[in-house]
Amino acid sequence: MTGISIGTEAAGSATQAQTSARVGAPLEKIALETYVPPAKPSLVGLSRAEIAEQLGAIGVAPAQRKMRVQQLWHWIYVRGAERFDEMTSISKAMREELAVHFTVARPEVVAEQISNDGTRKWLLRLPSGDQIEKAHEVECVYIPETDRGTLCVSSQVGCTLNCSFCHTGTQRLVRNLTAGEIVGQIMVARDRLNDWADRVTPAGSRLVTNVVMMGMGEPLYNFDAVRDALLIVADNEGIGISRRRITLSTSGVVPNIIRTGDEIGVMLAISLHAVRDELRNELVPLNRKYPIAELLQACRDYPGSSNARRITFEYVMLKGVNDSLEDAKLLVKMLKGIPAKINLIPFNPWPGTAYECSDWDQIEKFSEYIFNAGYSSPVRTPRGRDILAACGQLKSETEKLSVRERQALRAMAMTD
Ligand code: SAH
Ligand code: SF4
Repeated sequence: MTGISIGTEAAGSATQAQTSARVGAPLEKIALETYVPPAKPSLVGLSRAEIAEQLGAIGVAPAQRKMRVQQLWHWIYVRGAERFDEMTSISKAMREELAVHFTVARPEVVAEQISNDGTRKWLLRLPSGDQIEKAHEVECVYIPETDRGTLCVSSQVGCTLNCSFCHTGTQRLVRNLTAGEIVGQIMVARDRLNDWADRVTPAGSRLVTNVVMMGMGEPLYNFDAVRDALLIVADNEGIGISRRRITLSTSGVVPNIIRTGDEIGVMLAISLHAVRDELRNELVPLNRKYPIAELLQACRDYPGSSNARRITFEYVMLKGVNDSLEDAKLLVKMLKGIPAKINLIPFNPWPGTAYECSDWDQIEKFSEYIFNAGYSSPVRTPRGRDILAACGQLKSETEKLSVRERQALRAMAMTD
């Protein structure tokens, strides 16, 4: 862990220093034990119809609702308002009434880490809904590149799917995020990066330009909330990130792949990782339910896929497991006829895993074969290694931190 600052804005390079000048006060990591779940519901993540319904419930006249919804939508999703009293085009009485019943709160940000390469990771706390566990935690990662800024968003706390090479699958706690908690991750990133319409951004261009559902969880096992959230993110009158700049990554929940095309219309990424069922059953156990042939058929049928809108196939490079030239050959063969991109991901090891990342020259050989077969096969270099921020590898470091934190708190309590 080098160059990392938890809860501070300290940054290494000049660019980072400029970036950090735009964000608000440094974050102090708050002890988990002090977490208080929000008392009032947030309007963030509700559809227009749901907001109208909520307004009806507090006595807003039917004739007024549509206009109020438009105003709220603009303030929340274009201006990034964090409180009703900022919404100056709404009457003061109405703003006060709204504040009695609702908030426009996002998930609570409890820590921010800035990597040497500019990657930022935020730790978010969410209500657990029970008394024993105080709160749940998820992470959200921002990866700046020269031509874009990608936000890696989570769909669940933990994951039920237990892929053998993935750290998320080993986590004990699992719950679906709500649509508000998913949209809230984009709101939090825009808040921390000062990336809303009326705030100063460099050359007027947005910092968060792309969204990938590649954080914790299997998005297609939380379909409704993910759909509702992504429709809000893509809404032209709001956050307005085009569907072509939103990518949903799935381990292969076949029935919901078709629904994704029909009901959300975003770009698709498939976590393939193996070309033979026997091996894929081991790496991605969901393969037992939806084997490779069915998965590829769903990709062939994916509405809207074309050469301009290719499906990405993710392939994690595991030494001696799936990285032979035979595998590369089979991969090319089986993707024939599907408008595809191949994304080779160097395995990001985590404490306790038996897998190793393929040797670099093997990754190069594999990549070259695929390239010669006509596929661009960028090797996705894990960003933010120093803060363990690679997508699919979220939360591990903070989990350790919070154990330490709890021990420290207990120790303090004993010496008090
Ligand atoms: N559940 C979804 C999305 C989250 S994982 C899915 O599986 O597609 C995002 C990507 O990171 C997936 O391709 C996943 O297989 C990959 N991944 C998980 N753990 C990894 C690790 N330790 N190293 C590299 N990639 C990993
Ligand atoms: Fe879940 Fe995706 Fe990790 Fe598999 S790779 S355990 S589906 S998060």
